[in-house]
Amino acid sequence: MNVIFLGPPGAGKGTQAKILEETYGMVQLSTGDMLRAEVAAGSDLGKEAKAVMESGGLVSDELVIGIISSRIDQDDCKGGFMLDGFPRTVPQAEALDVMLKDKGFNLDHVLELQVDDEPLIGRITGRFTCGDCGEGYHDMFKKPAKEGVCDKCGSSNMKRRADDNEETVRARLQAYHDQTAPIVGHYGKQGLVRPVDGNTAIDEVTNQLKTILG
Ligand code: ADP
Ligand code: ADP
Ligand code: ZN
Repeated sequence: MNVIFLGPPGAGKGTQAKILEETYGMVQLSTGDMLRAEVAAGSDLGKEAKAVMESGGLVSDELVIGIISSRIDQDDCKGGFMLDGFPRTVPQAEALDVMLKDKGFNLDHVLELQVDDEPLIGRITGRFTCGDCGEGYHDMFKKPAKEGVCDKCGSSNMKRRADDNEETVRARLQAYHDQTAPIVGHYGKQGLVRPVDGNTAIDEVTNQLKTILG
């Protein structure tokens, strides 16, 4: 099964993708994570993306389409994948349609996580992640059992993203409404959109998703 997670920054795409990875064996493909890895490595690609990411804008379609195309060719995607943060513009969605057809992949669902703007600001400014295993946390909504220590791997190397501040979040929300939301219409025409109420608690969102995925 191959799915897309669609939703504004902070909607819970990454959180849910990580939970479902374990249940369904689909691999999470996060363009945000891939781009942050390029920035951290100081590659040419990372150098090109860094300033745009810090401002809350979108990096070029060409760049992310290239990243996803080579990632999807890797063996672990054959058992199914969840696209998290891609596509983010209509041209990216159109390129993905062609790419999947060429590579012989089917798209099963576009899971649209709907969350109001105001709670998103709090979700993003309270977000932190384990720098060692990637587990996601929140200051209020998902605290580790022991403060500052990862439940999963025991590391105390917790990280916050440079772009998770209120000012940048507002720019990212604007980019979502202007450039990403029109994708719902694109996949609506293909009958693939499954709306999910993302304003509810993490495990309730998971239950809704499991009902859709079967
Ligand atoms: P996205 O990948 O869509 O940007 P994340 O999955 O990283 O969003 O979630 C953003 C933050 O909100 C994280 O700190 C996460 O722990 C928290 N979070 C995720 N889903 C929920 C939810 N349903 N209710 C409250 N907090 C949530
Ligand atoms: P979030 O879900 O919290 O918005 P992501 O980790 O998905 O964050 O993305 C972080 C940043 O990386 C975005 O603000 C954007 O600059 C860049 N980015 C990620 N995916 C894409 C994409 N598909 N197209 C363009 N830019 C992207
Ligand atoms: Zn960890």
